[in-house]
Amino acid sequence: MALIISGKTTCKICNKRLCEQESIIAYPDVCYNENDPIYFFSGGIFHESCFMKADHSPIAMNILRMVDREAEKKICYISKTPITIENVKHPDNHIYIGYLISDRDAPLYKYNYIHVNKRYLDSWKGKNDFLHLLKAQSNLEGWSPLKLLIKRLESPLAPPLDPKIIERVNQYLERKK
Ligand SMILES: [Zn+2]
Repeated sequence: MALIISGKTTCKICNKRLCEQESIIAYPDVCYNENDPIYFFSGGIFHESCFMKADHSPIAMNILRMVDREAEKKICYISKTPITIENVKHPDNHIYIGYLISDRDAPLYKYNYIHVNKRYLDSWKGKNDFLHLLKAQSNLEGWSPLKLLIKRLESPLAPPLDPKIIERVNQYLERKK
């Protein structure tokens, strides 16, 4: 998530500084395809009014809603178990794929918005197929941002956090509700 510093961060559309009193949209970094119109919005910060007037803003808004809605679901695609700190043992072992591809006919389409608990990755029969599809896609023109996702999937598991820290994370999350 992008960091907003009042009076310093500028709107990606009008280039004017953002103030605390203004309605702003901080778009999550969710797009892996540089040729997708959504790529412009990904990771950017905007005045809400600039965002709403921009080309492709309705579709960008739809994707933002999907990303947020699916982010809440937090069920591992592989194991069907909940994504909790106890299950992933370390936040880095949870990967939320988010918005992957818009083409409904693409084999990768079914992996849009999935959550992965990396602890189950090696036991997953579909692992090689999934990685193969991602790698083939990442070699296409404009898809190099996908390489970062592949790196995150292929990197070693983060070591389990101390159970005492897990307890404190849970207390923190409980308070945030
Ligand atoms: Zn603006």
